[in-house]
Amino acid sequence: MLDNTAQNSNNGVKNSSADTADTTLPDTTFAEEFGESMDDDLADVSLSDLGKDAGDFLTSLRDQAVEFWQSQAKPQLSQASEQAKNAVSQANAQLAAQTQKLNDLTRLLKKPEHVPFAITHVSIVDDLESKPDQLDMRRNKVRVYPDQTIVVGADGKIEEIGDSASIEPALPQGYRRLDATGKFAIPGLINLHVHTFSNGKPLQKMTSKDQTLKMRRFFDTKAGREAAFALSLKNLETMLRSGVTTLRTLGDLGDDAIRVSKLVDEGRIIGPRVLASGPIIAAVGGHGAPLISTECADEADAAVAVDRNIAMGASAIKVASTGGVTDSTQRGEAGAVQLTEGQMAIICEIAHEHGLLVAAHAQSLDGVKNALRAGVDTIEHGSELDDEAIALFKNNPKALHGFSIFDATVLAGVAMRDLPQSVTQIDDIPLANGTDITNGMLAGLKQAKEAGIVVSMGTDSAMPLVTQYGTWRELEVLMKYADYTASEALYTATHVNAGVLGLGSEIGTLREGYSADIVITDENLLENLSTLDDVELVVAHGLPVFRPQVKKNEEIECNLDMLG
Ligand SMILES: [Zn+2]
Repeated sequence: MLDNTAQNSNNGVKNSSADTADTTLPDTTFAEEFGESMDDDLADVSLSDLGKDAGDFLTSLRDQAVEFWQSQAKPQLSQASEQAKNAVSQANAQLAAQTQKLNDLTRLLKKPEHVPFAITHVSIVDDLESKPDQLDMRRNKVRVYPDQTIVVGADGKIEEIGDSASIEPALPQGYRRLDATGKFAIPGLINLHVHTFSNGKPLQKMTSKDQTLKMRRFFDTKAGREAAFALSLKNLETMLRSGVTTLRTLGDLGDDAIRVSKLVDEGRIIGPRVLASGPIIAAVGGHGAPLISTECADEADAAVAVDRNIAMGASAIKVASTGGVTDSTQRGEAGAVQLTEGQMAIICEIAHEHGLLVAAHAQSLDGVKNALRAGVDTIEHGSELDDEAIALFKNNPKALHGFSIFDATVLAGVAMRDLPQSVTQIDDIPLANGTDITNGMLAGLKQAKEAGIVVSMGTDSAMPLVTQYGTWRELEVLMKYADYTASEALYTATHVNAGVLGLGSEIGTLREGYSADIVITDENLLENLSTLDDVELVVAHGLPVFRPQVKKNEEIECNLDMLG
């Protein structure tokens, strides 16, 4: 009512209140606007009185408004803008810190100039008589060659290798000497199953669909992509510092590991040689979805997904033939068949046209056989085998090598199976599934070895308790749980893995003309494998990384020491 009066009176008060109220009002006269609607009751109210009342009312409204502005709105507004300013500067500071971290990492990994050098008087632990381009699984001939000298050329390759007595005196001018008397040299380790999205801490119980989707959305933003890249860079640097000079990622958040692989290939950073898969190709709701997998409903989807990974720069392809342990919510779900043989066959066809190996996550016999029939090259984890599966492994014309490989990942399985749930933080159902699957994998591994199937190794890093620096732990569990000798374990992590990648004439052994990928240890690992826990020197493509310490998670190390 008051408002109405004031509104109706507005037009007439201009003159009468002009000196008290500093407001600008429309320029129509009171009589024009108000006169027509004025009824008899108001007929004798004098215009001046009405004008004065309305003017006073308006003045008080104006005063109230000024009071409100000064006492409440203005402070609130400036507080709000202060908050906004704070938020912006906070965001800027965060961005600067992240950029700084990224720059630090990049600088840390900055490639220095190649300087030719020689590692002198070192004991080599390798098999120097094998035919490294042939995958001979029955060899067990790694031994110690004392007092050797390895000459590393400016091209990053091994220029010469042999007895110190004959090589050292003839070392050309300008070659730096690293005297490694009392030390041991092995070829750089090769890890065929790496993830970079985590550091191996126990699984956090935050895997609700909703949270996973939120994380997925974050990793699809620019900030998320950069975060994933920084994570990959850091974790792959850790891999290098632990003695891994070549690795294959099998399930990334996006193009993060691919970007790192390009930086290494372009010689812009020292890093391990990376064959990167990008996201896993999985069924709808399948293994790793939605965080690290692309979901495919049919064969057309599968073709699109593999094309996209290849276009992104992937140098390996990963498919999920079955469900996985960590994402299982029902007993038996972990090995359930997911992608069809047809979907995997199309993926293999396209990947093989580009010369890329296809790895299949497969944790049941049906899943293994579907993948093998589709032409998959490496079976990840694996299961107990039957005669048909064994025959398919050994003769698989659709696979790139003409046969397929059993790529065991024992550590992730036994850590989950054998350590207390208080350590692994794994719920009952994944634990039950994990136990079944680990038992099946170990049975299959034994069968594969006996049948002469090529058995390679990877760690499945980023899984609970599988750190980025613990590749040597996989060798340890191969000895403890699968009856490998130290010689077989090292041969697998070097010669065999190189051959599986089709790089048997470039890496995996210390020979003339091979890439200078070398790890120097304090002790002879054939006698004490844990000497790999803290290596002395890593050389990647001829570039030395001195004092390559890594930051360890002591709690995880204590728990893993309890295994076996
Ligand atoms: Zn994996």
